[in-house]
Amino acid sequence: MQPQASPTIWIDGEFRTKETATVSVYDHGFLYGDGVFEGIRVYSGRVFESHAHLVRLYESAKSIRMTIPMSLAELSDVLEACVKKSGMTDSYIRLVVSRGPGDLGIDPRKSPRPCVIVIVDKINVYPAEVYQTGMAIITSSVTRNHSNACPPRVKSLNYLNNVLAKIEANDAGVYEAIMLNSQGNVAECTADNIFIVRSGEIQTPGTSEGILEGVTRRVVMELAKQHSIPLVEKVLQRHDVYIADEVFLTGTGAEVVPVTKIDGRVIGDGTPGPVTKKISEVYMKFARGG
Ligand code: PMP
Repeated sequence: MQPQASPTIWIDGEFRTKETATVSVYDHGFLYGDGVFEGIRVYSGRVFESHAHLVRLYESAKSIRMTIPMSLAELSDVLEACVKKSGMTDSYIRLVVSRGPGDLGIDPRKSPRPCVIVIVDKINVYPAEVYQTGMAIITSSVTRNHSNACPPRVKSLNYLNNVLAKIEANDAGVYEAIMLNSQGNVAECTADNIFIVRSGEIQTPGTSEGILEGVTRRVVMELAKQHSIPLVEKVLQRHDVYIADEVFLTGTGAEVVPVTKIDGRVIGDGTPGPVTKKISEVYMKFARGG
């Protein structure tokens, strides 16, 4: 018999309910945003790009000098067990590794054991209609973290910069905001990577522009190659985005979402373009195992 579908939470080896899933108020993930995380989709009971997400998690942890107290293979098994227990075939996994409980100072040496948390639940990022009509976004005034600060390649628990940009998007009545790097070039959005299409060529900022190396971004790059759609990583300015034929965003939660208006400029003819539609179609097919 199929288990009943329900959110499933695992903390340091134990399954908990939503009501009993608690962490210490001394946890430095809570006190300082000190930790790393991943957001992973489950399609048809399969943890999508599990290895890529886990590799990024361990790389993020290495970068912030945190040792995850279990191996990648063990954590992979935990994800599988949580998904199975949830009974949900299509869901979203939030995997968090915080620095763990310490004292009230910031010194991570006082937090000897990182805390590992897995949440399996549903996610709804954007309303269904934006995938048909495209969505409007703005450029935020909040600069993406400089790579010499906490590098954007680290998927850290410290998202306040992105939250501030998201608030600007909220104020403007849109769902996403482009964040520029300290040079003023396009980096990415608050929770999504950005791609433009110009004369049939897909273009996206490279990792040195201050982006998270999105797993969806990498899959899209591979699918473009497989389908002989030219794709280059290059420096993009706001002007490039404004005059693009098409713009789309990628992310685990967002999948592939068309953008049809930026800072009041209509992109292309104001509807999702053919390259965006093709990428979206092949991405969803690949994600669903087709
Ligand atoms: N950029 C940022 C800042 C993100 O938080 C995310 C994840 N939501 C992405 C890009 C997309 O990454 P991925 O495709 O791995 O979900």
